[in-house]
Amino acid sequence: MGNLTGRTALVTGASRGMGRATAERLARDGALVAVHYGTNEDAAAEVVAGIEKDGGRAFAVRAELGTPGDVHELFLALEEGLKERTGSTELNILVNNAGVMGGVKPEDTTPEQFDRIFAVNARAPFFIIQRALTNMPDGGRIVNISSGLTRFANPDEIAYAMSKGAIEQLALHYAKALGPRGITVNSVAPGITRNGNPLFDIPEAVEAMAALSTFNRVGEPRDVADVVAFLVSDDARWVTGSFVDASGGTLLG
Ligand code: NDP
Repeated sequence: MGNLTGRTALVTGASRGMGRATAERLARDGALVAVHYGTNEDAAAEVVAGIEKDGGRAFAVRAELGTPGDVHELFLALEEGLKERTGSTELNILVNNAGVMGGVKPEDTTPEQFDRIFAVNARAPFFIIQRALTNMPDGGRIVNISSGLTRFANPDEIAYAMSKGAIEQLALHYAKALGPRGITVNSVAPGITRNGNPLFDIPEAVEAMAALSTFNRVGEPRDVADVVAFLVSDDARWVTGSFVDASGGTLLG
């Protein structure tokens, strides 16, 4: 029996990358996990199947964040899935992981691209938390995935870094408001972490990215998932409003 047995969790953007690794880890720890995805139904189904094969419990929920009605759609599916499996709509753990990179230089960024980055990376997590709080009992856990780029300059990703700066504010202010309910709210800031980006298939690029970490390697999704698993556990009950550097020492400079 894992330390999250009897708990329910929503991990956004769990069809790939760190979200996937987090969903798998929380399920291994015993939670019933809602595996959220935006477009890739097959990938989400594969994550759910893998968790079930390993004896865990999970279900997929779709909602394209940053579009009108996104949070409503997400919670319709979430509550239906929870109710079916637990008889209640209680949500103990929320991990706001889904996010989009900019990938466009500041001088070429259009207002539409800027708004999209903010809609997915900052607005959606705000309204997901607002909505989740009606389902979350005392003692709940909220983790928001930020980025080391709020502390490490990269002139090519200004709009993205701004959106991650915004999501970090959620931990500071919500942590204060939700303390009386025993709900913790924390930010986790990964450094460069392997995902499906073709850059990770180019050895020279990986070597250059690895050199940014004091451990001389790029992060693996589970490096971050394990940090999230600690923050949502009972052991992290005294940690709230924090910024957790999960960049493999990249921020040491
Ligand atoms: P990936 O790019 O591998 O996966 C992104 C996930 O988010 C997918 O599950 C995707 O679902 C989902 N998603 C993206 N946009 C939307 C949307 N509009 N609506 C719904 N779902 C969406 O993610 P990473 O593991 O690379 O990154 C995870 C988080 O970590 C992000 O917030 C990112 O900004 C942050 N981060 C990443 C770093 C890195 O180096 N990888 C470094 C620092 C921070 P689907 O495919 O189904 O659409």
